[in-house]
Amino acid sequence: MKEKNERILVSACLAGVNCKYDGGNNENSQIIELIKNGNAILVCPEQLGGLVTPRVAAERLENKVITKDNRDVTEEYRRGAEEVLKLTKKFNIKKAILKSRSPSCGKAKIYDGTFSHTLTDGDGVTAELLKANGIEVITEEEL
Ligand code: SF4
Repeated sequence: MKEKNERILVSACLAGVNCKYDGGNNENSQIIELIKNGNAILVCPEQLGGLVTPRVAAERLENKVITKDNRDVTEEYRRGAEEVLKLTKKFNIKKAILKSRSPSCGKAKIYDGTFSHTLTDGDGVTAELLKANGIEVITEEEL
């Protein structure tokens, strides 16, 4: 799947880091195996954008990101995405494994902004920026 010593970017919550909005994680045993070689760089774009953990859930709504209590956190999401992009450049990362359906990390399908567990076509803010910069993005579900 990847060349020897190739660095990959990984959503930190998939590795068991408690950075999820509710203070938990999305630990995935396949991800744990994959990153044991030490070539993964773990990131949580929402934390890198300055958001606290735990935090109010948010979803993308058109070009914005809005929390469940109606706060506009678009700027924090953009800042986090830019920080992650910076890291990919610094470490010459060409591939990312990101958490599915997240408003930051999701790829192809994300929640639709109604907080009703309804999916719509689209990428999270970070996934979108990475793809636009030529990074291959897959989710843990595509491993
Ligand atoms: Fe996980 Fe990404 Fe959400 Fe951070 S922003 S908790 S890494 S899905």
